[in-house]
Amino acid sequence: MELANELNNLPDAVFIIEPATARIIDVNVQACRDMHACREDLLGKTVMQLQDDVHDPAHWHSLVEVMRRERSYLFIGHHRRLDGTRYPVEVHTAFIEREGRELLCSVARDISTRVEVMNRFADCECEEWQGLHDIADGVWEWNLKANTLYFSPALKRMLGYGPDEMQPRLETWKDNIHPEDAPLVLSILDEHLKGLRHLYEAEYRLRNRNGHYMWIRDRGQVRERDERGTPLRAVGLVNNITDLKLIEQDLQQQADYDVLTGLLNRRRGELLAEQKLALMHRQGCQLGVCLIDIDDFKQINDIYGHLAGDQALKRVAGFIRDFVRRSDLLFRWGGEEFVLICPDTDKEGMRELLSKLCRAIECMRLDGDLREHTVTISAGVSVYPDHSADLLNLIARADSALYTAKQQGKNRVVLHEHEVEGPACSVSRVG
Ligand code: GH3
Ligand code: MG
Ligand code: MG
Repeated sequence: MELANELNNLPDAVFIIEPATARIIDVNVQACRDMHACREDLLGKTVMQLQDDVHDPAHWHSLVEVMRRERSYLFIGHHRRLDGTRYPVEVHTAFIEREGRELLCSVARDISTRVEVMNRFADCECEEWQGLHDIADGVWEWNLKANTLYFSPALKRMLGYGPDEMQPRLETWKDNIHPEDAPLVLSILDEHLKGLRHLYEAEYRLRNRNGHYMWIRDRGQVRERDERGTPLRAVGLVNNITDLKLIEQDLQQQADYDVLTGLLNRRRGELLAEQKLALMHRQGCQLGVCLIDIDDFKQINDIYGHLAGDQALKRVAGFIRDFVRRSDLLFRWGGEEFVLICPDTDKEGMRELLSKLCRAIECMRLDGDLREHTVTISAGVSVYPDHSADLLNLIARADSALYTAKQQGKNRVVLHEHEVEGPACSVSRVG
């Protein structure tokens, strides 16, 4: 594999690594300079040979797992030259796929100067420690050997406790993490303790003395390990980010949902649909994709007015949402059109579901002026993987099936006909 020119000219060292074998398969000019070696000397060496922090292949593979999941990974440690000398590095690794092959691209920066400055700081740690109390809403210190967890007075105050409350034990903290957040928070902490992450850093909900949950940003680091690498002492800072989170959630809600129908909007819907598609791909399951369009909607607006049209649209959207399964994904595609994504559903399943939905909508009663009006819908369906492996293609196929449904008289569901392979599928009339 040839390194692109831009990588070669970077002022930081670049190592391209094969994750399965941990072997270096390319390096740039700066990597050779930092390592005091020529390219040929470095190629074929393993990560274990060129640094001090990954002990063996098993340790390497557990790191690769984290990198594969997180896609980008920060690591601070030491590189070892072929002559045995070492220098501190900060390494940003990106997990990439090139022509179906998994690769790691590690960009390593020599941080000798930074480490020197930090060591000078460490001498005045007591003052720094005092300073931390001022910048954070709370500070903790965990002695892993004695299993004591010290909570600073400010941290206790933040959670509504008095100075003599909160037992200095890990459980005092652990048992109060929101159950939905606890697994992730504890796994991040565990990965940091094992040396798989440079920092422990998490945002989660923590229960206060009143039993209410507050949003917390928690950052910490092991400051002492024994000679075998077992962590002995860790310290951390806690900030109350409840207000920020509420604003963030509000903005997210506005950004994700359609105001009129209350359904997810197209942007968010497409993102979640991509995730469902990827999941079905991994699990080897099918995925039904359906485009639903209200029939003759323009007439509703023309006869009853735009406001009544809005109400009808809202009612149909709510009806479909309540009709489908919780695991299905429904979002507003635009105008009076909706996309429905059904995991683990084949053509027959989609045909059955949509036929039932068409009949149910036909029987649905509207309110006000629209009481006597019968609304119907048409639906076009495509299915992964038969019709395409790409979400937008699947929606385009569902759209062409929808077009056929309209042409054939509306109030019906049509399956897309042309399969990537296998027999063509047929049209089904409602009723
Ligand atoms: P067809 O059966 O072929 O789908 O006919 P149609 O009248 O439903 O189709 P067309 O696409 O011609 O018209 C869709 C109409 O939906 C036009 C547009 O004014 C109306 N519409 C789209 N979004 C909204 C909305 O948010 N509120 C209201 N009241 N009307 C909307
Ligand atoms: Mg329409
Ligand atoms: Mg339309």
